Amino acid sequence: LRDRLKDPSLLREQCYIDGAWTGSGSIAVTNPATGGEIGRIPSLGATEATAAIEAAEHAFPAWAKLTAKQRSNILRKWFELIVANREDLALILTSEQGKPLTEALGEVDIGAAYIEFFAEEARRVYGETIPTQRPDARLIAIKQPIGVCAAITPWNFPNSMITRKVSPALAAGCTVVLKPAEETPFSALALAALAEKAGLPKGVFNIVTGDAPPIGKVFCEHPAVRFVGFTGSTEVGKILYKQSAVGVKKLGLELGGNAPFIVFDDADIDAAVEGAMVSKYRNMGQTCVCANRLYVQDGVYDAFVEKLAAKVKAMKVGNGTEQGVTQGPLINDAAVEKTERHIADALANGAKVITGGKRHALGGTFFEPTVLADVRPDALVAHEETFGPLAPVFRFKDEAEVVKLANASPFGLASYFYARDLGRVWRVAEALESGMVGVNTGLITTEVAPFGGVKESGLGREGSHHGIEEYVEIKYVMMAGI
Ligand code: ADP
Repeated sequence: LRDRLKDPSLLREQCYIDGAWTGSGSIAVTNPATGGEIGRIPSLGATEATAAIEAAEHAFPAWAKLTAKQRSNILRKWFELIVANREDLALILTSEQGKPLTEALGEVDIGAAYIEFFAEEARRVYGETIPTQRPDARLIAIKQPIGVCAAITPWNFPNSMITRKVSPALAAGCTVVLKPAEETPFSALALAALAEKAGLPKGVFNIVTGDAPPIGKVFCEHPAVRFVGFTGSTEVGKILYKQSAVGVKKLGLELGGNAPFIVFDDADIDAAVEGAMVSKYRNMGQTCVCANRLYVQDGVYDAFVEKLAAKVKAMKVGNGTEQGVTQGPLINDAAVEKTERHIADALANGAKVITGGKRHALGGTFFEPTVLADVRPDALVAHEETFGPLAPVFRFKDEAEVVKLANASPFGLASYFYARDLGRVWRVAEALESGMVGVNTGLITTEVAPFGGVKESGLGREGSHHGIEEYVEIKYVMMAGI
């Protein structure tokens, strides 16, 4: 991989703590498309995580004291360096994660867009003045950075899940310690290399790689850490939530989803098929906002399934770096096995395969993009997130029934529906229990809008002007004796 980068120094095999590149590679990172080793990363633990937190703690006062404009300028420079190196960053990303190169470029661009947005937002962290309740006093509320922030990120978006946590934190005046996913550390380390080039002072942004549970425990329990931001599985999110109770830390959790994708009789069917393709098969179905359950109304069911299957059959599976590939490999064997389990369960209960349904002839973790029809409402796939390229299509009769089915989940991250009737659009958008709703679209993520879930899908919002609020504390000051 190093030979194919324009700037080989972006591929780092060391961690970044207190402005120094440290540790030596011992954990192998492999390319899911080939199984080949890309490089090695250090296997750090609680001691190094503590050192990184203490570096961030030490760096915090000076970083917080800079003016918003000074912080903004450094973030802006970081953004510009990422844009200038987008091809290298995308190649690193595809090599460790598997998604097609065009999608990796898209991720690098939105990842950079978060930094650009929060560089701007840094200057808009306004406080307020409050009409007083007593004549001799004046009341104000100011906003201050919360302190050292810890972040733990997943492998499915190795770039943008980092920037959307780190850039609002830095913009607000916080310092950060990050543990990226062990499958995809090189995107994170490349971002740190560029942050260093942009002039980020030492200790402001630190990265540790290694054994997740002990590092996570230190992040949750070290008294200097005031905020723990996590994107990943609900299971791990709950562990972090419990661990953080000891020190009453603030948490941002972006956990699992189980997105319903509903197509009503009055929908534009071709648009709905397009939306389903993007929402379901982007990143091989490995996004937390992927359509997981497709509910299609009786009158358009057959037409929808037929058109969707035609598009799915036309997809090209292969190594993400090859021209024209739209589906790369899944991240690992466990991901393939879960997809297989969901398919087997649906078939055992009367569903039928319209296309795909099994491992791809390419071997490894390549899987055929799949469409199943006549799936029963009680299928496993209705209750669990697949995180694979499987579209199970359920049939429904009316609006009340489908809203009930859609909401019958402990998760509530994203939902999608296609309809034209204005009354229905409002009714359903308001009735769906999720943090985000896409109406007549399958792609909702943008740096300017609040991303996050309800119920067991998480806490807090990332992106938009709300995203920076997570990283500040409100301090109320009463000035009396006037
Ligand atoms: P997935 O199953 O998709 O890999 P995880 O929730 O296991 O999702 O992983 C998301 C992130 O959480 C990764 O960075 C991983 O290393 C980290 N992680 C896994 N287990 C723990 C843990 N016990 N404590 C802290 N972080 C963890």
